[in-house]
Amino acid sequence: MIPLFEHYPPLGHRLPYVSLGEFPTPVQKLQHLGKDMGLNHLYIKRDDLSGKVYGGNKTRKLEFLLGNALSTKVKEVLTFGYAGSNHCLATAIYAQQVGLRSISMLMPQPNAHYVRRNLLMSHYCGAEFHQYVSIPFVALGTIYQFPRHGLKRGRFPQFIPPGGSSPLGTVGFVNAAFELKEQIMKGEIPEPDYIYVASGTTGTAVGLMLGLRAASLKSRVISVRVADEQFVNVRKMAKLFHKTNSLLCSLDPSFPKFQFSEKDVDLRHGFFGQQYALFTKEGMEAVTRMEKTEGIKLEGTYTGKAFAGLIDDVEKRDLEDKVLLFWQTHNSRDFSEAIATVDYHQLPQPFHRYFEEEVQPLDTHS
Ligand SMILES: *Cc1c(COP(=O)(O)O)cnc(C)c1O
Repeated sequence: MIPLFEHYPPLGHRLPYVSLGEFPTPVQKLQHLGKDMGLNHLYIKRDDLSGKVYGGNKTRKLEFLLGNALSTKVKEVLTFGYAGSNHCLATAIYAQQVGLRSISMLMPQPNAHYVRRNLLMSHYCGAEFHQYVSIPFVALGTIYQFPRHGLKRGRFPQFIPPGGSSPLGTVGFVNAAFELKEQIMKGEIPEPDYIYVASGTTGTAVGLMLGLRAASLKSRVISVRVADEQFVNVRKMAKLFHKTNSLLCSLDPSFPKFQFSEKDVDLRHGFFGQQYALFTKEGMEAVTRMEKTEGIKLEGTYTGKAFAGLIDDVEKRDLEDKVLLFWQTHNSRDFSEAIATVDYHQLPQPFHRYFEEEVQPLDTHS
């Protein structure tokens, strides 16, 4: 039984849920890196190990989102992202695992090795994907694909929003906070003062904020913005917080209703760089530092930028005796064997360019 359902049994009866991942994910002290940075209590939450085939933060959201798809008896899910989207790949992998088809509506992004790998793996998992140049064209494409698939399959696909950050997907991280509380109670980690996380569609950060409040933990979430400000801002976060909170209260009236004000959000804007998925120098230095001292792999789009945010705070503030938890949101499972069987020419033509053009200059780690 997942920790949230143990605390709120009615939620266990009323929320759709399918078990996909391997939980709890380990928490681990970063002894060497902590010492190197002058921190006595630096920890990492290993959500990179959240699934056997594919880890990362999306597994937690998909346990609810795909649980919902299964309960409504759809045959396909349709979701959105950029070409190298970890969310679209995770959806493709786990949808296939539970017997659903997946369709990804993708937009262009800066090239990187991981974009190639994710596209090949999505194809390997039987996902259908399309590329559109911008959001309005994605909308048009969806208006076309939605009825087309409905006619073909006898049922319309179910939408999963970008990043899986609907209120239902966000519940995955409310549960994650209760999972962390159990690890604190067992003495695996002291109660964190600060939890650092990359924020792209904000479901991870917001779910944690809500879950930490419900689990009576004092930890503050520091969200490092890695996507455009139109997607990551205090207003959006407050809205998602309230909607997720309302969903849980409506299904179990004993779940508390929380106030949420702008003061509750610690959003860091200084590490985004120029563009989504365009790596930064600070981000890649953070990637190198983690890998050299601890052998744990971060990457340039999300976790490197988030860890750069943590490093910057350590340099500017007195955090020596604080408990810092870095939430590792990126997958670390190796799927290179599976994709070795796929030739990129099998992908739809618009995606060939990612294999024919150079990767961005700072993509030197993969
Ligand atoms: C999707 C993703 C995030 C962002 O999570 P949100 O809930 O969308 O804010 C962070 N890190 C990685 C590696 C991701 O794939």
